[in-house]
This record gives sequence, C-alpha cells and structure tokens, in this order.
Amino acid sequence: MENCIFCKIIAGEIPSAKVYEDGEIVIFKDIAPLAKIHLLCVPKEHFAYLSELDDGRAAFLGRVLKKIAALAPTLGLADGYRLVINQGESAGQSVKHLHIHILGGETLSWEK
Ligand code: 5GP
Ligand code: ZN
Repeated sequence: MENCIFCKIIAGEIPSAKVYEDGEIVIFKDIAPLAKIHLLCVPKEHFAYLSELDDGRAAFLGRVLKKIAALAPTLGLADGYRLVINQGESAGQSVKHLHIHILGGETLSWEK
C-alpha cells in the first residue's frame, strides 16, 4: 500500500526497532511510547479496520492473540500487559493499517 508508514516499515524502507517478526506479523517499538514498554503488533497484510475482517482474517487475528500471549514473557511482559486497537477518528487512529498496541512494563492506570 503506497504512502502507508507501517507498510514501509514492513518493507524495510523505514527503520524500526523490531522485537519479533514472522511470516504474517511484525512487532516493533512504538516511536512515541505511552508506557515503559509500548510495542506495535502489525499484520504484514495491509488492511485498516476490524470491519474488513473476513473469516480468514478473523482466524489470523486469533492466531496473533495467541502469539502475543506466548511471546509476552520474552517481551518483558510476564507481569501483565494491555492490548489496544484504535479504530477510526474518534478513537484517535492515526495510522490506517490495523495494529495492536501492546502496553506494559509498569502498573497501568485505567482512567478516561
Ligand atoms: P494509532 O494512533 O493509529 O492507534 O497508533 C499509531 C502509533 O504508531 C502511534 O502510537 C505512533 O506513535 C506510532 N508511530 C507512528 N509513526 C511511527 C513510526 O514511524 N515508527 C514507529 N515505530 N511508530 C510510529
Ligand atoms: Zn499498510
């Protein structure tokens, strides 16, 4: 996808601090961390919204959640973590390539 910053990171055209990569996802450090550990789990396939999930992508997302849970201890998240998927303007989604924020490394507050 042209002009998509995450597609450029996946293609290696823009550098990132990758912590995990396989055939279908990459996980790298967020450039503006909101917690001591703030990672972005990004599908290699470009799509923007959960509303674009078909059965294949839904199964893929299930696999991704399973992978995150398996990787958590090695990512420094053994004590817990928070997953966030911002969707659309009012949620503040700034990159229109679906991604899962992984936040942790400290006690996270839960306030509006
Ligand atoms: P959103 O607001 O779309 O849910 O999250 C986009 C995230 O991508 C933000 O937390 C932002 O800091 C991060 N981000 C934007 N551009 C870059 C970049 O070039 N590199 C990295 N590592 N993170 C980025
Ligand atoms: Zn993209």
